[in-house]
Amino acid sequence: MIHDPLEGDEGKITLVRARGSLVWDDQGREYLDCTSQAWSNNLGANDPRVVKAAIAQMQEITHARPNFNTLPLLELTAKLRQIAPGDLNRIGYCLHGSLAVEMAIKLAFKNKPGRHNLIVLQDAYHGRSITTMAASWPHPDNPFLPIQPRFVRVPHPDPYRPRLGMDVEAESKLCLYLLEETIAKGVDGGVAAIMLEPIMGNGGHIELPLSFLKGVRDICDRHDIVLIWDEIQSCFGRTGKMFAADLYGIVPDIMTFGKGVGGGFPLAGIFASDRLQGFESGEDALTFGQFPVAMAAAVATVDAIISDGLCDKAREHGAYATQRLAEMSERRKLIGHVRGPGLFVSVELVKDRQTKEPARKAASEVYRRGAAKGVLFGESRYAGLGNLIKVKPPLDCTHEQMSHALDILDEVLGSIEADGIA
Ligand code: PMP
Repeated sequence: MIHDPLEGDEGKITLVRARGSLVWDDQGREYLDCTSQAWSNNLGANDPRVVKAAIAQMQEITHARPNFNTLPLLELTAKLRQIAPGDLNRIGYCLHGSLAVEMAIKLAFKNKPGRHNLIVLQDAYHGRSITTMAASWPHPDNPFLPIQPRFVRVPHPDPYRPRLGMDVEAESKLCLYLLEETIAKGVDGGVAAIMLEPIMGNGGHIELPLSFLKGVRDICDRHDIVLIWDEIQSCFGRTGKMFAADLYGIVPDIMTFGKGVGGGFPLAGIFASDRLQGFESGEDALTFGQFPVAMAAAVATVDAIISDGLCDKAREHGAYATQRLAEMSERRKLIGHVRGPGLFVSVELVKDRQTKEPARKAASEVYRRGAAKGVLFGESRYAGLGNLIKVKPPLDCTHEQMSHALDILDEVLGSIEADGIA
């Protein structure tokens, strides 16, 4: 069998219950979940309003093929239009972020007939389907290469590890210059779209400078290229605004969403500009793509994110967390860098602050010792880094929970330093 849960996977926790920021395992142990289950529970787990809406929908209709509308589909679409940035009023749905990215890519190519290239950033992560893996960083020993499309990867600025010790703004300018040069001289057959995560998530949590984000928008405008922002990880309040597009004041042409929208139910999709031509029937239809139960859950989730003021809470918790982590870094030499924005928080552990060599063993110990003390910290094993500690609980966690998670991180880092692990 593939991914057989009964084989291997030693040490994996079996979860049996979740509520808010807490989860419980089959041994009755309670954990504070700073992973929000792949940063998806922006609204805390099993929110009673979401559960009630999903149950009510289940009693009416659980499945309708995409040829039909359902009431939650209409209600959710109207709601999302109200909060959509700029003119991104056209909405498409599916159940997984990877498929939302594929939908975005398809729509971009449909709108630029005759163009042959998609440009992505070098440390990007856009999913694990055949196409989205190819749009992510080079996968080590990739067995799927023979059947994957090829995309063009360009460098992006990295404020913590700028090239040749450059200043952040100079590096941003250099990367914009190289991007434009790639469009002019680096591809055959024109560029249909440029795709990026406004805050790069799995590829090392990199906050792209505003100048770079603005510059890419400008290049897309000048070259008539579709700009896709993959907001699957940054959407629905995580950054302290509903979308990163609102945070940075930039409107892409297509924006993906996922994770936090469904309140724990699978849902993802795209927002697209009114200016783009939509799909014809048959170009993008998935049997379960408009799952009414997830839609009903999403209506309740989006309502709760707004009425509970979770964007404000993300900013408050995030400001508190980053300030405490900065203080902690004065005592804990393993902390190399503290990152945001909002509750998109992580720290990078390094062996040495000068060389910035990733402290991977120390990070593994943080996950292990944290879990033993009842706090699950988020991991990042991708892109060869593996040294990030993500502190991303649900946006509606309490101040005490946030503070407790940081106390435990401090304690665990202290014990790891005392044991000489890096
Ligand atoms: N894009 C981004 C930016 C993501 O963070 C993820 C998930 N980590 C995906 C796409 C893929 O989403 P999914 O796992 O739901 O397919």
